[in-house]
Amino acid sequence: MPTETEALDNPASKIICRLCGSADLAGFVDLGATPPCELFLTAEALEAPEPTFPLHPRVCRSCLLVQLPPLIDPDETFTEYAYFSSFSTSWVEHARRFVTAATERAGLTSDSLVVEAASNDGYLLQHVVADGMRAVGVEPSANVGAAAREKGVPTITAFLSPETGAAVRAEHGPAALVVANNVYAHIPDVVGFTQGLRAMVADDGWVSIEVQHLLTLMRHRQFDTIYHEHFQYYTVGTAQKALRSGGLELVDVELVPTHGGSIRCWARPTELGAGPSQAVADVLAEEAAAGLETVEGHAGFAGEVSRIRNDLVRFLIEAADAGKVVAGYGAPGKGNTLLNYCGIRPDLLAYTVDRNPYKHGRYTPGTRIPIHPPERIDADRPDYVLVLPWNLREEITAQLAHVADWGGKLVYPIPSLQVVEPGSGKVVDP
Ligand SMILES: [Zn+2]
Repeated sequence: MPTETEALDNPASKIICRLCGSADLAGFVDLGATPPCELFLTAEALEAPEPTFPLHPRVCRSCLLVQLPPLIDPDETFTEYAYFSSFSTSWVEHARRFVTAATERAGLTSDSLVVEAASNDGYLLQHVVADGMRAVGVEPSANVGAAAREKGVPTITAFLSPETGAAVRAEHGPAALVVANNVYAHIPDVVGFTQGLRAMVADDGWVSIEVQHLLTLMRHRQFDTIYHEHFQYYTVGTAQKALRSGGLELVDVELVPTHGGSIRCWARPTELGAGPSQAVADVLAEEAAAGLETVEGHAGFAGEVSRIRNDLVRFLIEAADAGKVVAGYGAPGKGNTLLNYCGIRPDLLAYTVDRNPYKHGRYTPGTRIPIHPPERIDADRPDYVLVLPWNLREEITAQLAHVADWGGKLVYPIPSLQVVEPGSGKVVDP
């Protein structure tokens, strides 16, 4: 059987499933070819070629893992990774609550070791250190890991693999708790990464993984959360199989609201013989009822996604024909999946605004829409503001209450196009 990389080197050969090795994969949703969603362009870069990569996740007919071929090298994405988790105060608070709950569940004491894979700038492990426990972070991005060490969180610069996992255990001992939050989708070698988790955790320890839930993604049509850095999209059923591939058994699951709907999986070494909780059985039953135990159950999603595109493009064309001005709000990475898939360029959306100064004066990748500071909207008084970060709907609807002063309306394209009143959020169309 060819390896995944060999299969990609030879496009004529089939893509193979990274979890079970099957060469029998079906299309899930074809979003065309787009640039990496975080590569915002400078004015000079507008004159240069811009590489694009297919954005076409498949579903494995054998194990049902929904996955993207690894066309983007995580080494390149992570080495210069500029995202510091601690910039978000709500995220740091989420991490603090997690540490409190995990301490109770795993029975952690002052001599317990907690290891986190992809520990970022220590946003989570700083709470472990503050509670007087031992902490070790494994973080691939050198500059982000350095920020963690400055906070007093011991951090190794490495990608987690079976070898680095074994090295961490040899140096620091077995971990009572291993955490891997918001990374399990970002690793192309899911089996090797899981073996790395198993290598680090004590034989009676716990592993906790937080990752976006495919069931929620599909229910709420969050297709814009599909981008090249997300290599796989898990149900509880496929997460269970992925964990088993590395010697871990899923024993409990919690549904958490992060990233529009995530699962927090609790796993333990397989040889402990711990069975799944009622919560695992309940979510598996919910996924089965939604059809996600079959390839056919994944089939309707592509049609729902193209309906969102049709509704949004129709709205923008009709607004342009009626002489209305539409501006964007936000320039998140996921907005670029939406804009590229829908083919929305500055003729349909003159500009967008964002609070991040790094993006000001830059352009959205692929669609080349200019990004301005938020004050631009107040000066221009557009008729409609198309909001791209739907996950912050309540917050942004309230923040943009003043758009009502000049009779402007807000437009949310996902899960289906809605025009709402700024401030109240009352739906006025349809
Ligand atoms: Zn498979």
